[in-house]
Amino acid sequence: MPLYEFRCPSCGVFEAMHPMSEVPGSRPCRNCSETAARVFSPIGLSALGSDRAKAIGDAERSAHEPDVVSHVPNSPGASSPRATQDPRHLKLPRP
Ligand SMILES: [Zn+2]
Repeated sequence: MPLYEFRCPSCGVFEAMHPMSEVPGSRPCRNCSETAARVFSPIGLSALGSDRAKAIGDAERSAHEPDVVSHVPNSPGASSPRATQDPRHLKLPRP
């Protein structure tokens, strides 16, 4: 049976074995019996190298636990560095 990680809000992450067909989304903590949610982590990706494993792990985790953003990156109001310093380029037509 594969190992799965669960995170207790009080005690932290612990591992538990479950059959693949019966993996619960949460289970009681071993120490305090509080509900511990399952943690989605890349399994067996360490052989890929840390950068690739991190990228795959981030992509997998974001499907289940998307990061919350407070602003739109590169929003139109934000100032971006000009590509050119030539003042004649400012007179060119814009799309
Ligand atoms: Zn606990």
